[in-house]
Amino acid sequence: MDKLFQQLENHYGQQKWWDVHNQLFSVTEMVLIQNTNSVNVEKAMVNLRPYLTDLETVLSLPEDNLATLIRPSGYYKIKAKRLRAVYQWLVEHSKEIVEKIPTEDLRIELLNIYGIGNETADVMMLYLYNRPVFVADNYARRLFERLGFGKNTDYNKMRNIYQPEVNQWPANQAKEFHALIDEHCKAHCLKKPHCKNCPLLETCQYPDKDLTR
Ligand code: SF4
Repeated sequence: MDKLFQQLENHYGQQKWWDVHNQLFSVTEMVLIQNTNSVNVEKAMVNLRPYLTDLETVLSLPEDNLATLIRPSGYYKIKAKRLRAVYQWLVEHSKEIVEKIPTEDLRIELLNIYGIGNETADVMMLYLYNRPVFVADNYARRLFERLGFGKNTDYNKMRNIYQPEVNQWPANQAKEFHALIDEHCKAHCLKKPHCKNCPLLETCQYPDKDLTR
């Protein structure tokens, strides 16, 4: 894993994703990005931004109004419910409280919030709370399988395999690793891969490497 991290970082450079300056903005984006893309998230954020001054203000929005504002992100009624549940959790859990919660206990807490699944919980832990966690998202699953690390169809099973190693890393390295995997899968390791100039070409085990792209 260290070697893979180095290969990706040497090729793509530091990503510095989600340097979280505003917790409320970041957590909102983390919920809105579920099942959509960043363009649609940005459209919803433009509508919602005036209400993201603080938790009290955004929570004062009735759920229907919140849903209307975030409509461009899709699944807007469900996402409005999820956002309100996350905002309420944040009201009850200051940073000082969260800092005292051990990482795996924090994960359980986050998974208990309405609509927060494995991936969003891990991304929240990584970028909001600086916990070194492995995000076993679809990109990581596809890449690791192609590299020959084995097939993983279950999020938690894959996470459990790699989490012990990532747990030893500084949080910033874990953040970079997640970002680099996603960048690599958008640039080269797409569903139909572009293998020709891939930085992992020599070690990749994927039998259907497409060297024409
Ligand atoms: S060589 Fe192709 S399949 Fe292998 S990691 Fe690179 S892009 Fe993906």
